[in-house]
Amino acid sequence: MKRSPQLTRSEARRRLRAVQKQIAGLEYLCSGTVSYQTRRCGKPNCACAADPAARHGPYYVWSRREGGRQVNTMLAAEVGPRFERAAGNYRKLRDLLHRWERLSAAVLLPPTGPKSQPRRHLASKRKRGPQRSRP
Ligand SMILES: [Zn+2]
Repeated sequence: MKRSPQLTRSEARRRLRAVQKQIAGLEYLCSGTVSYQTRRCGKPNCACAADPAARHGPYYVWSRREGGRQVNTMLAAEVGPRFERAAGNYRKLRDLLHRWERLSAAVLLPPTGPKSQPRRHLASKRKRGPQRSRP
């Protein structure tokens, strides 16, 4: 694994504040996906039964998992785009949380010198042989 050039603590703190500010700016969140689709109504005499072009809609559908089950919710045309943005915000939040975690480590961990601490630690472990599990 290649390490990125050492981030100074003050730079990491500055980036951390920027991440927190971005998270605070995410107004709505929804997990899952928002799609745009046409539907058959199920009536055998309706044109939609035979002709795909005569299907109803399109409608926005919000799909997500709730308690292990897949749940689909039809959305009114005017709220569909807001749910699309909310789903985008959710994905963005997950990325931002990963950054928050990495930057937290960069601020909290002691700085490593030119001789990398983790490497020396690994080497000394290897000399001692495999770790025994304690009873
Ligand atoms: Zn129909």
